Amino acid sequence: MDKEEYKKIGLKIGIEIHQQLDSNKLFCECPSVLRQDEVDFKVKRKLKAVSGEEGKKDIAAEYEQFRDRIFVYEGYNDTTCLVELDEEPPHEINKNALKIALQVALMLNCKPNEIIQVMRKTVVDGSNTSGFQRTLLLAQDGYVDIEGKKIGIQSICLEEDACKKILENEKEVIYRLDRLGIPLVEIATAPDIDNPEDAKKTALRIGEILRTCKVKRGLGTIRQDVNMSILNKERTEIKGVQEPELIVKTLETEIKRQKELLDFKKPIGNEVRKANPDGTTTFLRPLPGKARMYPETDIPLIILDKKFIDEIKNNLPKIRLKEDIIKEIEQKGINIELAKAILQRGQVELFENLLKMGIDSKTTARLIAVIPDSIKAHYKLDDSNFIVLTEEIFEKILKAVKKEEISKDSLENVIYDFIMNKDLENSFLKNKKLSKNDLEKEIKKFLEENKDKISNLPEKTISGMLIGRLRGKADSQEIIELVDKLLKK
Ligand SMILES: [Zn+2]
Repeated sequence: MDKEEYKKIGLKIGIEIHQQLDSNKLFCECPSVLRQDEVDFKVKRKLKAVSGEEGKKDIAAEYEQFRDRIFVYEGYNDTTCLVELDEEPPHEINKNALKIALQVALMLNCKPNEIIQVMRKTVVDGSNTSGFQRTLLLAQDGYVDIEGKKIGIQSICLEEDACKKILENEKEVIYRLDRLGIPLVEIATAPDIDNPEDAKKTALRIGEILRTCKVKRGLGTIRQDVNMSILNKERTEIKGVQEPELIVKTLETEIKRQKELLDFKKPIGNEVRKANPDGTTTFLRPLPGKARMYPETDIPLIILDKKFIDEIKNNLPKIRLKEDIIKEIEQKGINIELAKAILQRGQVELFENLLKMGIDSKTTARLIAVIPDSIKAHYKLDDSNFIVLTEEIFEKILKAVKKEEISKDSLENVIYDFIMNKDLENSFLKNKKLSKNDLEKEIKKFLEENKDKISNLPEKTISGMLIGRLRGKADSQEIIELVDKLLKK
């Protein structure tokens, strides 16, 4: 569908971005660290639906209660405390987190609220030990500029992250407390976006702004939810679109699904759906009603004085201009087209981080911005196949290049094998680089066995034959040098 067609079906999109801040927890002094090691304790709980302020029970809460499951909470003695377990009232708000969130708000042109009441938002899936999430409405009424078009920012909230889900079945859900309480800034745009491509651009732009502030990096530290409706029908919320790149496909698939429902005169549910890595969505739960917020009485009102806000305003981080970024990448020896591609793919920071691995800039750029695209085109794959290519994976690949375990020329094979089998060590093994000695032996053998055939050929052609023969097992440059050395003998 094109932009005109989206207009015709009255597509309205809003996005909500949740970004973890790089500070200690919001209402206790525990560090914001996620752990994989053995837990120190487990606590079992059951949830009961309680009435909201207006005396109405939340339909989502009742739905969860109906399922009657046990929640198990796992924690650590040294990095989680009684606040996460909801056995001690919350401590004073983390000033550092508040400051970072205000920076984000001001960079998105929002107006901070002077007096802030911390609220409790009912959470029914057990992911908060208290049965609610603490949230505060920090600022409102801003905008982000997307190619000259203003997309409204409705609100900036500062809130606590929920527990991490470890396991779920019909009887119980196991949660880990390490993530509970990590400060999150929640950015909600107005439903001003009218096509999927602009939704992606908005998410990428907000991501750029976030990364100039002190936020956590890497997988799972940023989450995108997408709200959408067509033809003024019910609103659908799609939770957890993993990458901005997937927003377009997810929306296209959901629009198609809703149009089909309408074609068969079926109603569109007012519901929350979960985004899948392949761009499809599955039903999660009914959209929670309005009876879900009430004041947090354990925390006093927060007053933001003008001096505090002005100081943040006067020290906002700088956003780099696109032209400057491209110039900087070019200065590292990358041609302008590739530099633009890196920028467009939102990989500037990744590129700059990976350069620290000490591999030449051309190989680094090729690894992140050229090879994935060529694999995608060659094997007709879609974006969802490439989500596994995280910064950590790229780092491991470059490390293997540095240690000469794999050759620069085998990167395409390494990545393709990894995407297919998700086993990086194995794809390194499959594409193992020949040692200098073995390479020389192979070349010598070839030259001797084909002595007659190649005696009249130019050196360049001979090198070319060997490069083709040893593809992925050695770097072309090394082969060229060895052929030259051996033929001179
Ligand atoms: Zn704590």
